[in-house]
Amino acid sequence: MSSENQKIVVFGSIVQDLVSYTDSFPRPGESVRGHNFKLGSGGKGANQAVAAARLGINVSMIGMVGEDMFGDSNIKDLSSNGVDTSCVGRTKKTHTATATITVNKEGENNIVVTLGANLEMSPEIADANSSKIAGSKMVICQGEIDEKGNRRAFEIARSHGVTTFLNPAPGDPNMDKTILELVDIICTNENEAEFITGIAQNNVKDAEKAARAMLKMGPQHAIITLGGKGVLLASKGVDDVEHTAVIKVDAVDTTGAGDCFCGSLAAHLVAGHPISASIRSAANLAALSVTRHGTQSSYWKLDEIRQQYP
Ligand code: ADP
Repeated sequence: MSSENQKIVVFGSIVQDLVSYTDSFPRPGESVRGHNFKLGSGGKGANQAVAAARLGINVSMIGMVGEDMFGDSNIKDLSSNGVDTSCVGRTKKTHTATATITVNKEGENNIVVTLGANLEMSPEIADANSSKIAGSKMVICQGEIDEKGNRRAFEIARSHGVTTFLNPAPGDPNMDKTILELVDIICTNENEAEFITGIAQNNVKDAEKAARAMLKMGPQHAIITLGGKGVLLASKGVDDVEHTAVIKVDAVDTTGAGDCFCGSLAAHLVAGHPISASIRSAANLAALSVTRHGTQSSYWKLDEIRQQYP
């Protein structure tokens, strides 16, 4: 894959998902019986890379895994989805990151993440892969790695005119918000919007206020996803906050829906689609993903979409 035709670089996390399906979440001290278990390759970075690659976009992943079986299988799964893994490093110092996920019968989830090798995603890793970043159209980062690494990746991107896209998930109240000065597009859910802006999120009006507040911190576009209630877009120079509806679906598992949205949105944008149309498509693709179990495995491929929606 040459750097000329490469479109998206994801600088981010790779995590082994261990998913248990149960009727209800255990309370502290309680043990409940699960009725299914799945191993899955995940991590917000890898999920977003796969979501974009499944839409036929050229994606490279810059990430870190351990020298363990989870590292092997995560790299294999990225490759089999068409993601370039030549910049995924391996460390002997720690394990591949894991996420222990519980999904209840409503399709809601609880997640414990141990970041392991993701914490080695330092500024030096960004520097070592600077030519990959410089040769892309868009760099996407999330909040599951060392934030100094994200900052360096965006600095390199900015100095080469590469679009920067931040999905600061999962929300961290202590996040250094000055990184938003380096961001062109920020995409959050309501929790993350609240952490960043300090505006409590109770309804769509609050989300509109938060989207406008995020614009003042740097980005050209601030996007807030509202689950089944759609997506908000605030853009610099545009007075109104645009509300995009999402198709109605029967949700069985919302794990990774936000990542599907971000990866799909990035894919549409680098393919040259306008932002409103890109948001509409990405929201509907994310809605389709919640009708299936799993994270990466729930994302629709281009040929499936064409078959179902000719
Ligand atoms: P996150 O998964 O990061 O918390 P959201 O819950 O806002 O983010 O979901 C991201 C996107 O996934 C939404 O914008 C929407 O497109 C889709 N989505 C999530 N839940 C549903 C749902 N119940 N029905 C339809 N679409 C959904």
